[in-house]
Amino acid sequence: HADEAMYSAKREGRNNFQFYEISPEQAQQHDVLLKTRLRHAEGNGELRVFYQPQVDAASEDIVGMEALVRWEHPELGPISPGVFIPLAEETGLIVSLGAWVLRTACRQAREWEDKYGLGLRLGVNLSAVQLMEPDLLDTVSAALAESGLDPRLLELEVTESISIKAVPNLVENLHGLHRLGCRIAIDDFGTGAASLDYLRKLPADRIKIDQSFVRNIGIDPDDEAIVRATIDMAHRLKRGVVAEGVEIEQHLKFLRANHCDELQGYLFCRPLPHPSFDRLLAERQRLLAEPQANVA
Ligand code: C2E
Ligand code: MG
Ligand code: MG
Ligand code: MG
Repeated sequence: HADEAMYSAKREGRNNFQFYEISPEQAQQHDVLLKTRLRHAEGNGELRVFYQPQVDAASEDIVGMEALVRWEHPELGPISPGVFIPLAEETGLIVSLGAWVLRTACRQAREWEDKYGLGLRLGVNLSAVQLMEPDLLDTVSAALAESGLDPRLLELEVTESISIKAVPNLVENLHGLHRLGCRIAIDDFGTGAASLDYLRKLPADRIKIDQSFVRNIGIDPDDEAIVRATIDMAHRLKRGVVAEGVEIEQHLKFLRANHCDELQGYLFCRPLPHPSFDRLLAERQRLLAEPQANVA
C-alpha cells in the first residue's frame, strides 16, 4: 500500500527515502497533502489524546501518565505523531494543536482526580515552537483554570532537541511555568547536542532518559554506563529521573537496581485511549480496596 510505504519512510527519517519506492518529490507532495488535512483535523474531531502510565520503579504503582496526541484521518488512516508533529511545527499549527492537547488532557486528568483521587501527575509535551510563543503562559494558565487541575500535577515535557540559543524565551517561559506551580521535565535526555548545557541552564525538575539508551540495556555496556551515570547525575542534582521505552523485564531489573525513580514503557502499558485508561484506574482502585486476604 503506497500510503503505508510513505508513512514508514517518513517514520524512519527524512533521509531514508532511498529504501522505499518513493521519490523525495512524492514525499514532499505528501507532506503538502498532510499539512492541508492537518489544518482541519482538530475541527473535524480527528484528534485524540492517549495516555501512557508512568510507574514507580520500586512498587510499579501508577504515579502519573503522559498525554500523547493521535491523529486518525478518515481516508488516510492513523498518522504517527513522529510524522505529523514536525509538519504541525513547520506550519505553526502546533500552537493550536498543542493548546488543544493541553486543554483536553488537563480536563481529563481533573476528571480522574475527582473520580479516583490518586494525585496522578500529567505529562504534556511542548514543542519548541510553543515554547517561543509569548502566549505560552496564558495558554497553560487557561487550561489549568478551565479544568481546575492542580498545577502541581501538571508536568511540561521539553524535548532536548531544542537549542537554548534558538529559543530566546525558553528559559523565561520555563521559569514562568514554575511560577504557575507546574513542573518541567527534559524529554529524550541524552540525544541532543547539549544535554549537559540543558541540565545546567534549564530549571528542570526531572529528566526522561531517552528510549534509545534503555533499548540497549543488556546489549551495549556503554549505553548501560550512560544510563547509570545519568541516573546518578540526576540524583546528585536533586532531580527526578524517568526511563522511557521500558519494554522487557531485563530493562526493569537494571533500572531498579540502579535506582531510577520512575518507568514508562510497553512492559507496563501502551498508550491507551481514555476509556481504557479509565478502566485501568478503576481496576487499580478495586484491587486496592480488596481485603488483604487475597494478597497472601
Ligand atoms: P516522546 O514524548 O518521547 O513520547 C514517548 C514515545 O515513545 C511515544 O511515541 C510512546 O508511544 C513511545 N513509547 C512508549 N513506550 C514505549 C516502549 O516501550 N517502546 C517503544 N518503542 N516506544 C514507546 P508517540 O506517541 O508515537 O510519540 C512520538 C513523539 O511525538 C513523542 O515522543 C513526542 O515527542 C511527540 N508528541 C506526541 N504527542 C505530542 C503532543 O501532544 N505535543 C507535542 N509537541 N509532541 C507530541
Ligand atoms: Mg514526552
Ligand atoms: Mg520527544
Ligand atoms: Mg521521549
